[in-house]
Amino acid sequence: MKCRLGCGACCIAPSISSAIPGMPNGKPAGMRCINLSDDNLCLIFGAADRPDVCSDFDATIDVCGKTNQQALILITELEQLTN
Ligand code: SF4
Ligand code: SF4
Repeated sequence: MKCRLGCGACCIAPSISSAIPGMPNGKPAGMRCINLSDDNLCLIFGAADRPDVCSDFDATIDVCGKTNQQALILITELEQLTN
């Protein structure tokens, strides 16, 4: 599937352990990435220092669901299962 631009769930729900520009220690689950704009777009998309984990993330129906709200719920569940 194609990413729903403006969703942003994968930039909010999961914890990210690698350094993110502006967040050197990564971020905990449920916290908005500092690089996520108010309209839920990545402000550093395409930048060299965008974390690999972000570039490598592919939208799939299992993770992203059919709505932005579903994505938040699914990713939060996955996060809890993997911790
Ligand atoms: S959760 Fe999925 S649909 Fe939403 S922004 Fe991330 S990749 Fe795109
Ligand atoms: S750097 Fe961009 S893609 Fe990665 S979590 Fe932050 S806003 Fe999302």
